[in-house]
Amino acid sequence: MTSDTASLPHAAHASDAISQAPDQAPELLQVKGLTKYFPIKGGLLSREVDRVHAVDGVSFSIAAGETLGMVGESGCGKSTTGRCILRLIEPSNGEVRFDGQDVTAMNPQALREVRRDMQIIFQDPFASLNPRMTVEAIIGEALTIHKLTKSPTEYQARVVDLLETVGLNADHMRRFPHEFSGGQRQRIGIARALAVSPKLIVCDEPVSALDVSIQAQVINLLEDLQAKMGLTYLFIAHDLSVVEHISNRVAVMYLGRVVEIAPSRDLYTRPKHPYTEALLSAVPIPDPKAKKQRIVLTGDVPNPVNRPSGCHFHPRCPKATERCKVEEPELKAVGTQHQAACHLND
Ligand code: SF4
Repeated sequence: MTSDTASLPHAAHASDAISQAPDQAPELLQVKGLTKYFPIKGGLLSREVDRVHAVDGVSFSIAAGETLGMVGESGCGKSTTGRCILRLIEPSNGEVRFDGQDVTAMNPQALREVRRDMQIIFQDPFASLNPRMTVEAIIGEALTIHKLTKSPTEYQARVVDLLETVGLNADHMRRFPHEFSGGQRQRIGIARALAVSPKLIVCDEPVSALDVSIQAQVINLLEDLQAKMGLTYLFIAHDLSVVEHISNRVAVMYLGRVVEIAPSRDLYTRPKHPYTEALLSAVPIPDPKAKKQRIVLTGDVPNPVNRPSGCHFHPRCPKATERCKVEEPELKAVGTQHQAACHLND
């Protein structure tokens, strides 16, 4: 098992080490105007009476080999965005292009094929692993479905190789998920995703259910795998301190929209949206003597069915003006690769 337990708060930016490669790399994933609403049905005829706007016109791209962190409070649409990219949830509108192909227009056969290149790791490693299957069967399932090995010997060797790649070993093959710790179960989930040699992995809150020291181990493992295999990540989390360590760029979501997106260093040192400032003020800093003023947001995230007028963040924003109540801010460039949706930047 990986032994590195570097603390998460304010660790080195991924962009410090590998910012060059993604800048020059081609875009692997392009998301344009992605929208997902869930109809609310009512009345005797069960007609659509309203809509939950879970994802509302989200656009971004991820370069090959890059990690885009995606953060926001629960219910902001980040997990729905991840699932829509893989079409585990069908988008209502918008376009997802992967490696130049339009995923949103694919038929079931083409979608099955492209899913070999796009995998997902889930938040709850226990719920996402079939408790009645051995680790060998869980990891080997995709090898069998996609006919990726030619003989039982090759199959066994590939499963062992995958286990060792994630810091487990051959002795673990015959065991069941309940025999493992949370961190080990997440490693099994990662090995399962790696079985088909994907290019992109959507990491959907992969460390949220783990202790902080174990979170660092899993994040370090994901970084090592990225360096070795050239993987591309969409890394979803509700906590900015988690994505800071691994992301080249970070997108902040609020009520189904991206409100700020920037290279990690810019976002953490020069945020341009009051919501990002509030999230950042909650990130712990390692020096106990250093003081930071915590911005406490009042109120809960509004109901995505009845979103506030103007800037959807205005009822909770400490800097809101009259204009914010009536006029919706657009996501605009505020620096190199830095965009934010706030009137204060006009
Ligand atoms: Fe706050 Fe207004 Fe900016 Fe919205 S547009 S984030 S309410 S200052």
